[in-house]
Amino acid sequence: MPEMLNLELLEKGARKLNLPLSKGQLEMFETYQRELTKWNEKFNLTAVSDSEGIQTKHFLDSMSLLLPLLSALAPEAKTVPEAYKRLAKMKLRAIDVGTGPGFPGLVLKIMWPALELSLVEATGKKVQFLRHMIRELGLEDVEAYHARAEEMGQDGTHRGSYDLVMARAVAVLPVLVEYLMPLARKGGLVLAMKGPSASEEVLESETAIRILGGEVQKVVDVEVPLLAEERRIVIIRKVAETPEMYPRRPGIPQKRPLGSKK
Ligand code: SAH
Repeated sequence: MPEMLNLELLEKGARKLNLPLSKGQLEMFETYQRELTKWNEKFNLTAVSDSEGIQTKHFLDSMSLLLPLLSALAPEAKTVPEAYKRLAKMKLRAIDVGTGPGFPGLVLKIMWPALELSLVEATGKKVQFLRHMIRELGLEDVEAYHARAEEMGQDGTHRGSYDLVMARAVAVLPVLVEYLMPLARKGGLVLAMKGPSASEEVLESETAIRILGGEVQKVVDVEVPLLAEERRIVIIRKVAETPEMYPRRPGIPQKRPLGSKK
């Protein structure tokens, strides 16, 4: 028997979010934490690798993305548990860009098994870890792609085909929107997990977002349980098709952010 991990913080935090974990989900998070810790000793997958950090900065922070999703996708529900029950049955297509070792994507998948999920990551060893995790957790309808966002956005099987496009800690917003927007279907949502600078980044991205066919819906303040850091999630709706020339070639969005005067 593998040693049982203590996931008290995660359990407590999930309860605070009104998203209590089932035994099966808890077991999955245990496996996830154990494998992440093990792999991180050999490969540098994440800077946060202590038990407390994994539970709060990775698991709970990723889980907090569910809150704005519940309001957006199940607005008629009166309570979080009721909204979650509805959401859990929705078979939406989602993609997490620059997911690293699976944040927020894999956490979301554990919480929302009906989700059809693509994970995109440019670093090979992280993709290896993701594939290992998908197997270990026995997850279905998840695919890990070793690719750059700029390539995925010009690939006809991915471009314009996702209901939800998300990312955490990948790039500043003017760059990030060029990675994310092309992947969303018209009417789909783009969610950027940010910190205190979110509103400022939104101002700097206004031109880029408009060019790419997006409209900022809101910037939501999220309180992550047991984490004393400010978190904001930028929610953008895709209202028009993205012009064919975007995303530009790998590296160009970062080098020459869309709409920047520099
Ligand atoms: N989202 C994870 C990892 C953040 S680190 C988390 O929040 O913990 C940023 C990750 O994005 C790195 O693993 C990096 O390899 C990946 N990345 C950066 N630019 C990318 C791009 N253009 N396409 C795909 N992956 C990218």
